[in-house]
Amino acid sequence: MTTQAIASKFSDDTTASATTASSVRAPLFDGPFEGSERAAELIARIADFLHGELAALVREEGIDHEHSPDKPTLQRVWRRSHELGFYGMTLPTAMGGLGLSLLDHVLIKESIYASGSPLAPHVFGELSGPPRVGALARHATPMQLAKFIVPVAQAEKAICFALTEAEAGSDPGALQTQARLDGDTYILNGRKRFISGSPFADYAVLMASTSDSPDRRQISAFFVDLRQSGVEVVSGYKTMAGQSTTGDILLNDCRVPAANLIGEPGRGLALALGRITVNRLLHCPAMVGLATVALKDARDYARKRRQFGQPIAGFQAIQHSLADMATQLAAARALMISTARQLDAGGDARADASMAKLFCSESAFRIADAAVQIHGGEGIVQGRRVEFLFRMLRMYRVLTGTSEIQKNIIARELLGEAPQAGA
Ligand SMILES: Cc1cc2nc3c(=O)[nH]c(=O)nc-3n(C[C@H](O)[C@H](O)[C@H](O)COP(=O)(O)OP(=O)(O)OC[C@H]3O[C@@H](n4cnc5c(N)ncnc54)[C@H](O)[C@@H]3O)c2cc1C
Repeated sequence: MTTQAIASKFSDDTTASATTASSVRAPLFDGPFEGSERAAELIARIADFLHGELAALVREEGIDHEHSPDKPTLQRVWRRSHELGFYGMTLPTAMGGLGLSLLDHVLIKESIYASGSPLAPHVFGELSGPPRVGALARHATPMQLAKFIVPVAQAEKAICFALTEAEAGSDPGALQTQARLDGDTYILNGRKRFISGSPFADYAVLMASTSDSPDRRQISAFFVDLRQSGVEVVSGYKTMAGQSTTGDILLNDCRVPAANLIGEPGRGLALALGRITVNRLLHCPAMVGLATVALKDARDYARKRRQFGQPIAGFQAIQHSLADMATQLAAARALMISTARQLDAGGDARADASMAKLFCSESAFRIADAAVQIHGGEGIVQGRRVEFLFRMLRMYRVLTGTSEIQKNIIARELLGEAPQAGA
């Protein structure tokens, strides 16, 4: 039975029967599951968590895609996810991670987002949990591990990643935040922009220039306590997806112990970008998972909506639109999976990860647009899930490296150092 497996994996019906590892299948057309048996087991257990406890919490607290939960509610989710062994599963094994392959990681994450749960991003702590610090563990001192990384891995504290500034977006090397050494502290001044998770984070991994000269930047990474004096988080704006999980971090003569410097001075950008290829790939399962929800919603709506005396799914125009959506989704998914396999095999995959990020984000948005069209007027009413998905999937074309920046990278890999500006 395949339909039931898909129903329990991709339904947000809280009465869905428990998913078992052997019933986990690829999302479209019930193909064989591409990951390991262990990943299938984890997907099944996480599905039960999402459709059981978390669905109950969503109902109790009136959480939806537009209304982010408050911090105490988020902490409940993080702690419970940690107790169940999900929260830190993608960390290095030395820190309690499960040593999953990248392929398993993307498939698990895809299934979480494809659940359609508004709490999907919080199962792993995407905005302010282990994914934000895991890669830094190798560079952290024992003090930094104990004070900043372990509490995040154990769901006791939240952390954000602060690189972007008003004048340094696609070009992060242009950042202007300064860190001046004064005895055994650095004094930080500047303003970080668009920092995910900062409104509820306790700490930030923050990039600032430690160079004395304004003409020469030496970008260094610091752990910054967001509760200390000289720091303010300003979170008055909403993204087009309606969420307020992003904020600015203002640093005004903020004194940070020199012991909070991560790695060598001047190595900050290298640390920040060190896992960028993997991180690019790791955004794809969110887009693919959400696009799966959009396709499923459009298919279900087309089956039940009647016009001209028949379900609109009977019209060839609607059928072709659904077929195009499914084809784009399958292609995006295939690129995501092949890139994960390549990275697991030790390949470079720089261009592939950019292609995956580019193609998944652009395809997912086209799928969401077609899903809105199939819903007709209902699709453009605020509060409908498909309308939210359209706005959410629009954002991924900008976030974590715009589509243009991905094309620059792919072209550079193709051409070598091309005679053009840009990252
Ligand atoms: C909701 C949200 C969450 C975010 N979370 C974080 C976070 O947690 N931490 C963090 O550090 N940052 C975060 N960001 C910042 C995000 O990474 C940047 O917004 C993104 O990299 C683009 O930078 P920008 O907005 O300054 O756009 P710009 O760089 O100003 O780009 C504007 C336009 O110019 C194009 N462009 C720029 N340079 C080139 C070029 N060389 N060639 C061709 N086209 C080019 C871009 O593609 C884009 O279309 C977040 C942003 C948002 C909106």
